[in-house]
Amino acid sequence: MTTGESIRRAVIIAVGSELLTSTKLDTNSLFLTEALNGLGVTLAYKVVIGDDEVRLSRAVRCATDEAELVLVTGGLGATDDDVTRATVARTFDLPMREDPTLVSTIRSRFEARGLSMPEVNRRQALVPRGADVLPNPRGTAPGLWIDTPTAVCILLPGPFRELRPMFIDHVTPRIGPRTDGARVYRKILTIVGRTESHVEELTKPVHLQWRESGGEVQRTILASLGQIELHLTTLAHKPTDAQATLARAAAEISNVLGTHLVSADGESLEVVVGRMLRARHERVAIAESCTGGLIMSRLTDIPGSSVYTYGGWTVYSNQAKIEQLGVDPGLLDRHGAVSEPVVCAMAEAARRLGRVDYGLGITGIAGPSGGNEEKPVGMVWLALANSAGTVQSRRFRFAGERDRVKFQASQTALDMLRRSLLERDTKQHASAET
Ligand code: AMP
Ligand code: MG
Repeated sequence: MTTGESIRRAVIIAVGSELLTSTKLDTNSLFLTEALNGLGVTLAYKVVIGDDEVRLSRAVRCATDEAELVLVTGGLGATDDDVTRATVARTFDLPMREDPTLVSTIRSRFEARGLSMPEVNRRQALVPRGADVLPNPRGTAPGLWIDTPTAVCILLPGPFRELRPMFIDHVTPRIGPRTDGARVYRKILTIVGRTESHVEELTKPVHLQWRESGGEVQRTILASLGQIELHLTTLAHKPTDAQATLARAAAEISNVLGTHLVSADGESLEVVVGRMLRARHERVAIAESCTGGLIMSRLTDIPGSSVYTYGGWTVYSNQAKIEQLGVDPGLLDRHGAVSEPVVCAMAEAARRLGRVDYGLGITGIAGPSGGNEEKPVGMVWLALANSAGTVQSRRFRFAGERDRVKFQASQTALDMLRRSLLERDTKQHASAET
């Protein structure tokens, strides 16, 4: 490829038989994708190939036909299973020559540790004709920059601590000027309390309209546990242009999602709830049974959260509910620990004992055992007590294993608080207007 041609799309090939097992994940490509996007290069696709010459050669050929940039990571080691260098050279009919400077660099790495260089390491000094060597100060395997007829093909070492500095120091400066200057910008919208299909349904008209008007903004919907993310991306030459485009797009989405939108900046619920409480000079206390302190743990993940988080009680047993929160044993006897009267008593006790504005109570059956027809596994009662003396409660049924039930309960409890804070704002706003 001529050096004048611009680089727009890339393919990443991760090489290593271990990456095809269940024990090791290709994570290099995540870093590389992010770095490429930052340079305005998008990914056409990525593949994982074992240490296999035939498959690798085929993959490299295919990739160089598809994209202007091909990044191959891994398989540059000194052992027999490391086939990347020789395979790529053979794929493009490039003879290899031992580079004496590289041999002495590798030799001195060993000597610095009081070792002599094993003969097998000589193969790391082999350079395909016309290729540029990318120095590796952290390891013996140098990287290689190979200009093939249709693409730039770059070989990078597998270890992340070697790959990362090599990419930043020796690849980025050469690729940057060859992209057309536009970069990919992203905005992440977090949504809680709606399923993926609901979000899809609500936002589809906006999305279709974007597509009709030229497709400046791309949208991807991602469902994770207890939360949906909408990723909005746009290509722009200037960051200010991108920010304006994405802010406009986020506002349109926000219009249709209303209070289901937690953040237009990818923030988690604990961050958003924390900010809301702080702005109102209000505090919360938590009484947790089935979540075992998870909500407190999430709130305290945020530095400075003691301003709005009083603390909490992990009251797993009936005894703890009675002794620490003063829950009436009669309520527990009559209704059971997982019940509306008990969760309301927990929330109210937390608020009262903490002398704070909000008390959250959580009690449920996380499973896998302990459920019955009336109270199935995954059933969780949540309650929120406020300083007006009102206690709001709701029953939920969450699916999945124990940890999933616990997380969803924590997510929904925090969201209950968030919605209540929002509602009160709306009411105050309305009464200020009348
Ligand atoms: P290699 O360069 O193939 O000898 O790999 C050296 C080390 O880097 C091994 O521990 C590999 O498992 C690791 N590695 C190679 N490729 C990747 C990748 N794509 N993602 C994460 N680790 C990798
Ligand atoms: Mg390997």
